[in-house]
Amino acid sequence: MIDLEADVLVLGGGPAGVWAALSAARAGVRVALVDKARCGHSGPTAKSTVSLWNIPPGPLRDAAVTRGLADGGCLGDPEWMARVLAETYRQADHLARWSRREPAEPAARVTRIRLDGAQYLARMRRALILAGVRILDHHPALQLIVDTEGVVSGAAGVRTQDGFRSWTVRAGAVVVATGGCAFRSGGAGTDVDTGDGMLMAAEAGGELSGMEFSSAYSLAPVLGSHPAGADRRATASRAALRTATLCDENGTVFGSAGEGFGAQALAALADGRRVYACWQLGAQDAAPGRRLPGDLARMPVRAVLEGTVRGAGGVRLIGFDCATTVPGLFAAGEVAGREPITGAVGGFGGQGGAWSMSSGVWAGAGAARFAAGRGRRGPVRPVPGAGLHGGAGLDPRAVVGLVQEHTLPMRRSYRRSADSLRDSIAELDALWPATEFALGGIGPDRLYAREAAALLAVARWTKYSALARTESRGIHRRTDHPEVIEHWCRRLLTGGLGTVWVRPQACEPVPVASQSAVRQPAVPESAVLQSAVPESAVWQPVVSQSAVSQSVASQSAMSQPAGSPPSALQPEQACELERPDLATA
Ligand SMILES: Cc1cc2nc3c(=O)[nH]c(=O)nc-3n(C[C@H](O)[C@H](O)[C@H](O)COP(=O)(O)OP(=O)(O)OC[C@H]3O[C@@H](n4cnc5c(N)ncnc54)[C@H](O)[C@@H]3O)c2cc1C
Repeated sequence: MIDLEADVLVLGGGPAGVWAALSAARAGVRVALVDKARCGHSGPTAKSTVSLWNIPPGPLRDAAVTRGLADGGCLGDPEWMARVLAETYRQADHLARWSRREPAEPAARVTRIRLDGAQYLARMRRALILAGVRILDHHPALQLIVDTEGVVSGAAGVRTQDGFRSWTVRAGAVVVATGGCAFRSGGAGTDVDTGDGMLMAAEAGGELSGMEFSSAYSLAPVLGSHPAGADRRATASRAALRTATLCDENGTVFGSAGEGFGAQALAALADGRRVYACWQLGAQDAAPGRRLPGDLARMPVRAVLEGTVRGAGGVRLIGFDCATTVPGLFAAGEVAGREPITGAVGGFGGQGGAWSMSSGVWAGAGAARFAAGRGRRGPVRPVPGAGLHGGAGLDPRAVVGLVQEHTLPMRRSYRRSADSLRDSIAELDALWPATEFALGGIGPDRLYAREAAALLAVARWTKYSALARTESRGIHRRTDHPEVIEHWCRRLLTGGLGTVWVRPQACEPVPVASQSAVRQPAVPESAVLQSAVPESAVWQPVVSQSAVSQSVASQSAMSQPAGSPPSALQPEQACELERPDLATA
């Protein structure tokens, strides 16, 4: 058993985790970082060339915020966006030496920075070592540790390279930066993104937001089997796709993938049509609508679910210091809810990288402040959870298989309906109780079981949230509610394990103090997210597991009249529930 102590513990060593650790170390506290694989070598950034949302101050930045709000279906928050843009621009200056700027204009007009992900993270790792951060590679975290008052006080896990020995790190505050959840779809670098941090946060009482925006897909060429170097080949072929022309099975050209025609190709795949990529076409042949000759060499293309990795859902933040609703727990990067930055569309166009960097900086500083202001810590205990059972009565592969059946196909996630969602919820819910008393094991099985439990929990939150949002907005598409409904310009919070709940939240600014602001008056007021509705006024489980189970039991999904799912939250109801008298009635 390895037992360590730190002021701030960071879970995850992708871009969000490394920035969080560096920021905390710069605040002068002792920092430890644990990663499931090797810090700086795992996660999507390590496998890609990444571009950053990096826009200079002035009209260009104002226009980016305005465009971001419109693209994000009005669920974004201009103040969060402006802060991310400012922080990224500040930090990106340090990265300029390792990056390529585009376009090659004077610095003031640079709008994007391209980074070699592996090189970027390798340099960040070196910076962490120089700053005195203790890096523990191959140390997946499995559980949070809390004190008697429920304040997060560290984490526990296993060490995969040493006979799966257990470890514990006690800390004054924890930053969770374990990435999003791609449901093991095979996207480059997403094998480690199994939603572990979301599960740990929820088990400690945390909330999630935007989980219906979890249906981000990308295109990838269909390759033969390639057990060795799979990630490298997948990355290379994805990069090559940017320069390809996409066409349907009849040879009709959509346009170039690099020029935004991917969305049309994805819609064609969702309709059950085949899509192909062709290279080295002349400008005339590559024009949209053109019919290509049948004998032209082309490569089939498939849709890969990136889930919440490039969606918007994750652990709910309550302050600009990236505090969560759980005292002592901060979240950074794609494990955190990103609706204020990306709205309903997810992180395309470099927002993901910019957010990981900015939120990492803020979460690390927030956690350092929280830890420094905390008094003597009393007794602690690990938070119990699913997939941690000593025996192995339930095969994790069965759990992962069921989750994938209900998430990966486009008919399950790209386009949804009340029927398909209720069907998924019924099956996924039925499996949940067994994860609490029969899923677990020792050695590697302990990790697999925990990942399976996290995948199942994330899948359930996405389904419940998608069922509640009875409209289509951004990447959330409902075939039974294809229209955007103005009243739905609000965010959905979710959480719960045995019983999943969903409740709406107005998008207007609300006075909610973050935990470090509450506990430490020294935090400047500007660091606190403003919110309009008192918390007590909106707390109401709206779509619960029992509600859905009853509705599934009492009426066949097929006989349900279209457009009126009984358990789904209507916007009108949402408005009413925000009135304190109704919420408590
Ligand atoms: C193919 C692809 C291309 C992309 N390209 C871009 C781009 O060009 N620009 C852009 O802005 N964004 C891009 N993104 C989004 C990208 O995912 C983010 O920008 C960024 O990687 C998110 O950083 P993160 O640190 O939050 O998560 P990740 O990079 O996913 O890192 C998570 C880390 O946590 C670790 N971890 C997971 N679980 C545990 C656990 N239980 N215990 C300890 N450690 C754990 C993992 O090993 C990993 O190191 C891309 C995504 C994909 C899938």
